[in-house]
Amino acid sequence: MGNTDRPPVPLLGESRTVRLCDRTIGKENGQEIACGKPAVVHIAWYFNPCVASFSCPEHATKALNKWSYFQVHLVGPDCGMPGAVWDGDEERCLYPGEELPVRDTVEEFVHG
Ligand SMILES: [Zn+2]
Ligand SMILES: [Zn+2]
Repeated sequence: MGNTDRPPVPLLGESRTVRLCDRTIGKENGQEIACGKPAVVHIAWYFNPCVASFSCPEHATKALNKWSYFQVHLVGPDCGMPGAVWDGDEERCLYPGEELPVRDTVEEFVHG
């Protein structure tokens, strides 16, 4: 939108999924209004329990410079999906046991 004054952001790559920036930018009739721009980064403020937010480049730059955080990664396919968890070692969101059969599901399938 012609705004060339934005602070520089890290190389963000291409997002395969669209998540929206959840930064509160105001209130209307007592309801918080979120930024709503496409998010490019996923920020974990605390790890256990995980408190995370999605952010557009603009708000990410401001937030990461201002607040201390646990970890940040680019928005990936599993970010924010139901059941996905933040893996602090892999530094991404994933489904627990996604490379292993889930016991309950397998048993249910075999014996079901
Ligand atoms: Zn934003
Ligand atoms: Zn994530």
